[in-house]
Amino acid sequence: MRLVLLGAPGAGKGTQAKNIVSKYNIAHISTGDILRDEVKNNTEFGIKANQYMKEGKLVPDELIIEIIRNMLVKDGGKSGFLMDGFPRTLLQAEKFDEMLASLGQSIDKVINISVEPKRLIKRLTSRRVCSSCNNICSISNNEDDNEGCPSCGGELYRRKDDHDEVIKHRLKVYEQQTKPLIDYYRKNGLLFEVDGSGTEAEVTERILSIL
Ligand code: AMP
Repeated sequence: MRLVLLGAPGAGKGTQAKNIVSKYNIAHISTGDILRDEVKNNTEFGIKANQYMKEGKLVPDELIIEIIRNMLVKDGGKSGFLMDGFPRTLLQAEKFDEMLASLGQSIDKVINISVEPKRLIKRLTSRRVCSSCNNICSISNNEDDNEGCPSCGGELYRRKDDHDEVIKHRLKVYEQQTKPLIDYYRKNGLLFEVDGSGTEAEVTERILSIL
C-alpha cells in the first residue's frame, strides 16, 4: 500500500502515521524526521536544511526530492509506504508521480486530515516530543515540560519550530504552498478527506475505515 498523508502542521499527521504503519506494516517516511536527524548529526545537508527549518520555511524542493529519490532507488519502490510531510509543493508532487511511474508504481490513496486553524495553533504550542522514543504528546496548561513522556517516562522537549512566530509562518507557508495539493490529488481521484477533530483513536478509526 502506498499512501500520502496531507494536513496542516498540527493536524496530527505524525501521530496518525504511527498508528497506520503499525497496522499495515509499511514504512513511515517523515521528511521532517529525516531532516531533524540530519540537523542533529550536523551533516552538510542538515546544516543547509536547518537555515530554512528554524524559520518555518520549506527546504528547497531539489534537496527534498533528492532524499526521496535515493530512498526509492534503494528500495526499488517495492515496499509499501506512508508519506508524512511529503510532498509539500506541487513540484514535489509532480516529481514524486514521475519517480513512482518510472518504477511502475503509483500512489493508492491520499488522506487529508483537516482541523480548524484555531485548534492547530493550540495543538502546536502544547506539542512536546519525547527525546527517547519520539512519541508526540500534548501538555496541558498546568503541566510543565518535565512531566515526562506518557509512554516511556523519557524527557519531553518542544520543537524549535513550535514557537509562536515560527508557527504562524509555517501555517502561512502551508496555505500558500501545500494546500494546493488537495486539489491536485482530488483531480487525480486519489483524495479522501478525514475530519481531524476528536480524540486520537477517533481520527485513527476514521482513517482505517477509508483504507
Ligand atoms: P514537519 O516535521 O513535517 O512539520 O517538518 C518540519 C520542517 O521540515 C518543515 O517546516 C520544513 O522546514 C521541513 N520539511 C519537512 N518536509 C518538507 C518537505 N517535503 N519540503 C520542504 N521542507 C520540508
